[in-house]
Amino acid sequence: MKVLLLGKNGQVGWELQRSLAPLGELVALDRRSTLADGGCGNLEDLDGLRETVARLRPDVIVNAAAHTAVDRAERELELARTLNATAPGVLADAAHAVGALLVHYSTDYVFDGSGTAPWTEDAAAGPLSVYGQTKLEGEQRIAASGARHLIFRTSWVYAARGGNFAKTMLRLGQERERLTVIDDQFGAPTGAELIADVTAHAIRQTLREDARCGTYHLAAAGETTWNGYARFVLETARTLKPDLVMKAQDVAPVPTSAFPTPARRPLNSRLDTTRLRESFGLSMPHWQHGVRRMLAETL
Ligand code: NDP
Repeated sequence: MKVLLLGKNGQVGWELQRSLAPLGELVALDRRSTLADGGCGNLEDLDGLRETVARLRPDVIVNAAAHTAVDRAERELELARTLNATAPGVLADAAHAVGALLVHYSTDYVFDGSGTAPWTEDAAAGPLSVYGQTKLEGEQRIAASGARHLIFRTSWVYAARGGNFAKTMLRLGQERERLTVIDDQFGAPTGAELIADVTAHAIRQTLREDARCGTYHLAAAGETTWNGYARFVLETARTLKPDLVMKAQDVAPVPTSAFPTPARRPLNSRLDTTRLRESFGLSMPHWQHGVRRMLAETL
């Protein structure tokens, strides 16, 4: 089996390089990869993407590349649309032409964040931001292409590699006596490792049975707020590394309105993962499990 991976150096892309490797031949590209290197990985180069898929004729295409800078997207609408909507549409058309399965990632930000119930895959979307809107358009283009596909909507992604919220809290906790973190957005921090592992399992099962194609919510179990997440990070760090000098004794709760940002974020980012669990027979670990593991690796 041949697997083409785009966005190999992102949080999820990096973990996919590990989890997809046992499936067969893996061609992993980033935005600097060119046709001369064996494949174009730049999502802005739409002809390059078409040519890459036509030449490589992969069995599976996994697209982990995206415009993920949520606030910057508000002033980079065209670029966000190209990366999050047009390019996934081009990949889907190209996948359809060669009979490949396309795997793509989307986000809780396609929802408006109203209510308190976890969102199911069929709930009406209502993005609040350019990022959410363009990611939704990407989903729609893939669905319209006729390509066999898996779309995983996930939330609050972190990874041991690169910067993330937990690492920022660790740093600030050592620098400041008091942290202030919002406590009215609810969701589940989800590890890139978990996303990559679920992706590999799902690909194997979907290649055996096309009926599994579709959109799935993929998030760790349980829920918290950014404030609860920050508290957990500091408490866990103290337990894992008692000699760490943590100045912060308190993580004060504030509403989202205390930190105005260019992009609006949903208050309710809870994702219902029943469909994923039932279709693939997988059970999602609690969010604290993965965050603790990431901290143990980082500290
Ligand atoms: P990252 O921001 O870590 O990775 C995105 C990757 O896209 C980066 O490697 C980046 O490359 C690459 N990229 C940007 N522009 C281009 C381009 N023009 N051509 C090719 N590659 C490009 O994102 P995640 O791994 O966290 O996200 C993976 C998926 O999950 C995305 O679809 C995202 O929308 C979705 N998601 C993410 C969430 C999160 O909290 N992060 C939450 C919900 C969904 P470079 O490093 O060179 O800039």
